[in-house]
Amino acid sequence: MNKTDIRIFSLPELENIVQAYGEPKFKAKQIYQWIWQKGAMDFDEMTNLSKNLREKLSESYSFNKLEQVHQQKSLDGTIKTGWKLEDDSIIESVLIPVPKDNRFTLCVSSQVGCSLNCAFCATGKLKKVRNLKDYEIFEQFQKVNEQSLENYDHKLTNIVYMGMGEPLLNYNNVLKSIDKITNPNAAGYSMRRITISTAGIVKGINRLADDNIKVNIALSLHAADDEKRNKIMPINETNKLKDVVESLKNLYDKTKVKISYEYIMFKDFNDSLADAEKLYKLTRYFPVKVNIIEYNYVEGVDLKKAADDKVNRFAKYLVDKGVMTTVRRSRGKDIDAACGQLANKVEKNK
Ligand code: SF4
Repeated sequence: MNKTDIRIFSLPELENIVQAYGEPKFKAKQIYQWIWQKGAMDFDEMTNLSKNLREKLSESYSFNKLEQVHQQKSLDGTIKTGWKLEDDSIIESVLIPVPKDNRFTLCVSSQVGCSLNCAFCATGKLKKVRNLKDYEIFEQFQKVNEQSLENYDHKLTNIVYMGMGEPLLNYNNVLKSIDKITNPNAAGYSMRRITISTAGIVKGINRLADDNIKVNIALSLHAADDEKRNKIMPINETNKLKDVVESLKNLYDKTKVKISYEYIMFKDFNDSLADAEKLYKLTRYFPVKVNIIEYNYVEGVDLKKAADDKVNRFAKYLVDKGVMTTVRRSRGKDIDAACGQLANKVEKNK
């Protein structure tokens, strides 16, 4: 039987553990820093703990590490890695390097599979198996940070919760992982380096506002009215656009975080000027940037990439109205690592 992973414990819980062994409380902080700041994955690495304490810890606890099961590197430098978890589930993370901008981004998974079933997304075709634990999310960050250093001699600069899963449906673990990434006693990143991407979970967005969490938010919008959005994002049936926008306004009013609308443009579905006008109307409630994203083919999906002239016309409409707009070509297309394409092939073929 697997031993309990030591990483499930908070600092106060670690304090109780060491005190039960008759050790002083401050030893817990040392363990905490070994795990979350120095990335230790073995009690033997914790050299400022006595041998006796290390042995006691390893008798009861372990590190159930992620096991790399595949890795692909794109022609553009993007690296996608598949990880096996302790229960044999498989997840993926992506490293997106942009050396010229000094930008090295991790796209991290927050769930095994996803329950939201967006029409254009490969992950949505896998059934949701479970939420990831905070340390499983954090370990993706640690491992991909190592990849970034090895391949590009640069540590990660940005973390986006945009991999497999809906982060706001795994709120507690996602927030705990963010705490580890930002805590000065752990990885110590600034909240401004972190973006949560959501399909539009009203309760989750309001909770971020109530909890005063100052990470950036990317709304996967993809259609600017309920009728169209219902067709490609079933979550919209219970989380209507008006309510989603209202919750984002509430979040902005309380936290002033950066908000973006992600908009994958599909041929003859959401690429008209009438669509652009509807999208423009959604940009007037708080400062928001629009990212228009090129669609990547996903097996078995009946949506196509919009023509370049339509994309340009759409973007120009928004720019002319004063909306900050970017058009993003996808990264890692040749290795199925682009937005909406994460779905471990092994898992998918089951
Ligand atoms: S786009 Fe995001 S929310 Fe939608 S199915 Fe894919 S992973 Fe889930």
